[in-house]
Amino acid sequence: MLEVSNLGVRYGRHVALEGVSARVSKGEICVILGANGAGKSSFLGAVAGLVGTEAGTRIVMNGKDVTKLDAHLMVEEGIALVPEGRGIFGELTVAENLRLGSHARRAKPDAGKMLDFVYGLFPRLAERRRQLAQTMSGGEQQMVAIGRALMSKPDILMLDEPSLGLSPLLSKELFKSLATIAAEGFGILLVEQNARLSLKTADRGYLIETGRIVGEDTAPNLLKDPKVMSAYLGDA
Ligand code: ATP
Repeated sequence: MLEVSNLGVRYGRHVALEGVSARVSKGEICVILGANGAGKSSFLGAVAGLVGTEAGTRIVMNGKDVTKLDAHLMVEEGIALVPEGRGIFGELTVAENLRLGSHARRAKPDAGKMLDFVYGLFPRLAERRRQLAQTMSGGEQQMVAIGRALMSKPDILMLDEPSLGLSPLLSKELFKSLATIAAEGFGILLVEQNARLSLKTADRGYLIETGRIVGEDTAPNLLKDPKVMSAYLGDA
């Protein structure tokens, strides 16, 4: 469904990503693991159309070349990003934040259906629909951010460090929700610090080091690879 090949990103003279290729299929959860500054956020930003890419980059979504499209057009192609820090509107209610997600042309006809899906996935959001987003807890705000992205009816949901700042218990619940979302047929591409938890839920993983992919395997294989364990899971 999403196929990225030879992706490059530069910030001035600094090469942040070079020759990065990755793919995500329908219903699949892929995680990108890497140290701070490896280029993970730049990768998601580039795929979302927020960060410019170098010549030679090719991003294909559902068979269509979408390489140079702006972010709002990427949403129309079915790519939604939940940014690090969530990016929700604190002064708006939960329901208003969710409604903002359904402005995409592709989303409008099914807005009611998607809202039911989001409220079914996160019943807390339904209970608190009139509450200002800024007064929600960290975990609830993450639900709002994911819900808003889902409202655009994406084929691929991308998440930048979704468990950041969440307790271990809430992180576990978050990953359960991601598994439910994938089981509905959405593809998920996420960047995570929490390597162990994300690999337990993911189907496949990519390892990224200083802007290049240095490994790719199924999540179970990565979890039992001692080199991966020591480099990304913080174990010896
Ligand atoms: P982290 O986990 O710390 O967020 P990351 O793997 O997501 O890191 P990126 O944020 O993609 O990494 O950054 C990759 C490299 O590009 C880093 O060296 C970073 O300093 C640099 N970089 C990112 N954004 C910019 C920018 N707007 N201008 C200049 N350099 C940038």
